[in-house]
Amino acid sequence: MSERTFPFLRLARALPAEISIPIRVADFHEINADFVGGEAADQASRCIDCGNPYCSWGCPLGNRIPQWLKLVKEDRIEDAATLMHETNPLPEICGRVCPQDRLCEGICTLEEDFGAVTIGAIERSVTDEAIKRGWRPPEATATTDKRVAIIGAGPAGLSAADRLARAGVQADVFDRHEEIGGLLTFGIPAFKLEKDIVRTRRRVLEDQGVKFHVGTEIGRDVAFEKLVDDYDAVFMATGAYTAVDARLPGQQRAGVVVALPFLIANARQQMGTATAADVLPDLGGKRVVVLGGGDTAMDCVRTSVRLGAERVTCVYRRDEANMPGSRKEVKNAREEGVIFRFLAQPLAIVGGDVVDGVEIAETRLVQDGDGRARCEIVESSSQTIPADIVILSFGFLASPPDWCARFGIEPDDNGRLRVGGDTRLPLQTGHPKVFAGGDNVRGADLVVRAVLDGREAARSILSQLNVVA
Ligand code: FAD
Ligand code: SF4
Repeated sequence: MSERTFPFLRLARALPAEISIPIRVADFHEINADFVGGEAADQASRCIDCGNPYCSWGCPLGNRIPQWLKLVKEDRIEDAATLMHETNPLPEICGRVCPQDRLCEGICTLEEDFGAVTIGAIERSVTDEAIKRGWRPPEATATTDKRVAIIGAGPAGLSAADRLARAGVQADVFDRHEEIGGLLTFGIPAFKLEKDIVRTRRRVLEDQGVKFHVGTEIGRDVAFEKLVDDYDAVFMATGAYTAVDARLPGQQRAGVVVALPFLIANARQQMGTATAADVLPDLGGKRVVVLGGGDTAMDCVRTSVRLGAERVTCVYRRDEANMPGSRKEVKNAREEGVIFRFLAQPLAIVGGDVVDGVEIAETRLVQDGDGRARCEIVESSSQTIPADIVILSFGFLASPPDWCARFGIEPDDNGRLRVGGDTRLPLQTGHPKVFAGGDNVRGADLVVRAVLDGREAARSILSQLNVVA
């Protein structure tokens, strides 16, 4: 193998420059920059175009990764952006927040011996640069008289809006929040995804003709039946917002907070839109314990560090290998000083009126069958971790609006909307004009899969409306 033919032999995998730890924990800016100069082209040149595009198979969107890496290598930034947008309406966002180690990069042919191609970082850098240069997604070749209402401006809703606009269909997006993005804005903190990136995408979508109606809750400000009557189709992309309640004794004590309201209050403080309802506890010099091991828990521990907590501990009942959170986020949290207590089950929140600790017991993992290992509490292992603030982060369940059933849009036993099946189009609900996708269909999942659902729901809607994309 020659270094001339295979650049990966002389060129190591590299991520864009990372802000040093003491500086990055002092604010909420993203911790990685974009690639600059020829860095993206150099990293793209590490792709060996192996003939079996495992990376594309590992990407839920089936992105044509080797093909756009080749364009980046040739410095054809706008062409690469066009190809990226063929499969992914939000590449700069997925490039930032996807757990690449479990998706595209995890199965790159180079991963095991040489380090995967930095696919996510290239995807975000190229899209940022192309948009900065004035590049825009291809325009619709013809407009139609069709109109589609989208409920929810999260990644599923935005993805559908892009596809519909590109097919010449008017997309009207309604969201109860004051800004678009769903959990991209009111969940994922700015150190993973700066809010300017979402605002830039909003401008791109508006240039494509998408209309946003923010601060509008369907079912409260506008009746759902009005959308069904006024539009040719409706896409429900309403997310999953029912926090899992572990019913821990003592969880009503002052100082115990729930993860998402905590992150939303912080996001609004950062954006300058906080209201009296956005209560953010003072974490300065406090001992914070976060219960849970998913992406939300990782965002809470890292937010707590930035809000000045003296000591931040994450308690998770399984081991590190079985954590649902992204590996890169665990690494980042650890670098920022977060302490992890794995194999520890919270039993109760202790204290008086105000919390002063979390009682935990040690656990062991027991493998009974083929499924996920079960957690078993180790006898006489309980102890108390001192805490001034406890953040509950046990995940989310789908939260179907209560008016759904009146329209034949049925949830399953876990609250997820039922879609598709033998007699319906993909992502079509029990109401022929109504489609659904993202977390409200899957349960709490990933941005990239919400983007996939938005794209595929738009495809179904276009086919129902006989619009050729
Ligand atoms: P959402 O993003 O939840 O958007 C739904 C939107 O619908 C919301 O804006 C809501 O206000 C609106 N809405 C709901 N009902 C109505 C109504 N009746 N009227 C008007 N508007 C309504 N995934 C990753 O891939 N990487 C990560 O790093 C990551 N980190 C995460 C961190 C946190 C804290 C959380 C909570 C989740 C994270 N996820 C991450 C998961 C990811 O954010 C979600 O899977 C994704 O946002 C789901 O997209 P969605 O469009 O289905 O729903
Ligand atoms: Fe990888 Fe996500 Fe981009 Fe797909 S969308 S190529 S999984 S970073």
